[in-house]
Amino acid sequence: GKRIAMMTSGGDSPGMNGAIRAVIRTVIERGCEAYCIYEGYEGLVQGGNLIRKMGWSDVRGWLSEGGTLIGTARCMAFYERPGRLQAAKNMVLNGIDALVICGGDGSLTGADKFRAEWPGLIEELVQKKELTAQQVAPYKHLNIVGLVGSIDNDMSGTDATIGCFSALARICEMVDYIEATASSHSRAFVIEVMGRHCGWLALMAGVACGADFVFIPEKPRADDWQQEMCKVIAEHRKIGKRKTIVLIAEGAHDRHGNKISAEQIKVLLSDPTKCGLSLDTRITTLGHVQRGGTAVAYDRYLSTLQGVEAVNAILDATPETPTPFIAINENKITRKPLVQAVIDTKEVAKAIEAQDYDRAMKLRDTEFSD
Ligand code: ADP
Repeated sequence: GKRIAMMTSGGDSPGMNGAIRAVIRTVIERGCEAYCIYEGYEGLVQGGNLIRKMGWSDVRGWLSEGGTLIGTARCMAFYERPGRLQAAKNMVLNGIDALVICGGDGSLTGADKFRAEWPGLIEELVQKKELTAQQVAPYKHLNIVGLVGSIDNDMSGTDATIGCFSALARICEMVDYIEATASSHSRAFVIEVMGRHCGWLALMAGVACGADFVFIPEKPRADDWQQEMCKVIAEHRKIGKRKTIVLIAEGAHDRHGNKISAEQIKVLLSDPTKCGLSLDTRITTLGHVQRGGTAVAYDRYLSTLQGVEAVNAILDATPETPTPFIAINENKITRKPLVQAVIDTKEVAKAIEAQDYDRAMKLRDTEFSD
């Protein structure tokens, strides 16, 4: 039968192992042969034992393992055509012409480029006598399907990415821990969370943890944000709150594009000459604990359903179908055009850069009032 390979690429996220398990087992169940590419595109470029055949029991127990057990990497060689040529050669040598890739928008962009170039790459391999015409004959087209693995939930076209709800749960847990000590000492904490250009983690954690104030990149506060923040926090203190939690997304900035730092907020909360507050303030950068640990139930469920659908999409694909990625929209697993989603995702970053915040929020499709 057909040989279908699974790969994880870019930043790791909880739930990737669930996706691998679902893809491998669905491939086998459909009578095809399942392969894993280890170490992301690096494995495709290097080949050898980084491309391995997988059996049903090879992925046993993977649902409850965090990260990705087949490794992930950033691969400079794959940005260049010679790297992709080598990757194509390794695919043909292993008899693989269909790939499911779980990664962020960078990884999926690379995948679509690889698919578009495929016929040319194959031709070049024959011209350079790296492979014979006979060897490449069965591999006219490359089928690729994307799964979005990211803790940031930064991909357009899908309501949730694999891993974002696990990271959110971890943040909430950590904020709960911090709150206990904050409350005991009547302290303020400025907590920085991940998300790159996306404020989803900070915003959702703010709601879920009852934070006093939240900063996200898509909707910077008005120019008098210092006074506004201090006023809100002073009011919360006045009604008896013994703890203060300010959440800041790593990409947060003001309306003029200047980064807002945790240090800056700490000074505002602790130096009475600034806004009249003199709170004992600490900074906690949550860092990589947000990506760690096992996937929450939702990410296990999402990665499993999407993994099954990814294999269905591979088996349905014709050379004419544009590369799909598997999304979830209003609780339904869907197939969507990959290229459009990547373009839309980049548009948000562009809107933020151009300080067009209304457009950024609209593209994020988030209702958010002050
Ligand atoms: P993410 O997938 O999490 O967004 P990156 O942007 O770092 O992470 O992409 C992961 C890898 O995907 C890169 O190291 C590179 O090998 C490949 N890649 C990313 N963008 C491209 C591109 N435009 N063309 C070719 N390969 C790419």
